[in-house]
Amino acid sequence: MSLTADAVKAKARALGADLVGIAHGGVLDRHPPDPARPQTPTRITPDDSKSVIVLGRRLLTGINRLRGHDDRHKQYSTELVLTDLEEIELKLVYFLEDAGFPSITVPPVHFDPRHYDAKGDTRGPLSLAHAAVEAGLGTLGLNLMLLTPEFGPRVMLGAVLTSAELDADRPHAAPLCLGEACGRCLLACPADAIGQWTLDKARCAPLASPYGFTYLMGHVERMMQAPREEQLQLLKSKESFMSWQSILRGVGVYSGCTRCVDVCPVGRDYDAHLKDAQDEIAERTPEKEARLAAMARARESGDHGPHHARSARWIEGPGGG
Ligand code: SF4
Ligand code: SF4
Repeated sequence: MSLTADAVKAKARALGADLVGIAHGGVLDRHPPDPARPQTPTRITPDDSKSVIVLGRRLLTGINRLRGHDDRHKQYSTELVLTDLEEIELKLVYFLEDAGFPSITVPPVHFDPRHYDAKGDTRGPLSLAHAAVEAGLGTLGLNLMLLTPEFGPRVMLGAVLTSAELDADRPHAAPLCLGEACGRCLLACPADAIGQWTLDKARCAPLASPYGFTYLMGHVERMMQAPREEQLQLLKSKESFMSWQSILRGVGVYSGCTRCVDVCPVGRDYDAHLKDAQDEIAERTPEKEARLAAMARARESGDHGPHHARSARWIEGPGGG
């Protein structure tokens, strides 16, 4: 049986994907983002990872216009986008399998238990941002988030591994990120977690996942350690309600802060729908501005900082080499 890349992409779009690109599984196997902790298709399935189909579902524009970093509307809507994307992945796997090609989903928030990190550097079996670069969807930004020409970083990513051998897309040959001369993501980050081509995940995680595992464990621990007469009060508290609702509907578990995403000027959607709401950055501080200015000066003299080299392939665009 045969199946073309165009047919797979048309199906993905018909199912609701806003972006779809294809990479060869072998390319991702040869270029793990962190060779010390490899996230490669073969480690998921050596038999059925000939092609990696990367899917993007755009975030809701109205949600990206909100300026708070801990906004329940934002958390709820983004969770629904996540669910939608997962359903697109599942239906695409059925489509591929009905055509005779065993396939498997790589959901956006799946994680690899072998790589659990209590400090927040928990990783999925595949880095979807890096896979998206290889599949021609965009390049990485200052904090290593994926930027796309259509929606900047305002996309949720998922992937499907398949045994079908599909024509791969050409990766970008030039960077999309405006780099240190821009740095709006750094200025907006309420956790001050963004450096020069790096992200401090331990600082970002409590805001990006505000009602996730760490929140729940912290609340349970406080209940266990409280004097007996306070335990019932803590059990029936707002924190218990937030945990219950988040477990029930996923709200804020993986759908917290998006400030770096909201203010990024890359993407055709920014000028059209976001600039008026996000041009001003309330989280700017003199300290952040000074640090960014120092980075920009260093960059002018060719110094990209200590983290750029290891991610250069995905920042500059693998199509350029
Ligand atoms: S998600 Fe929020 S906390 Fe994390 S890097 Fe972006 S702006 Fe900073
Ligand atoms: S806000 Fe500016 S520096 Fe940050 S990722 Fe977007 S373009 Fe790059």
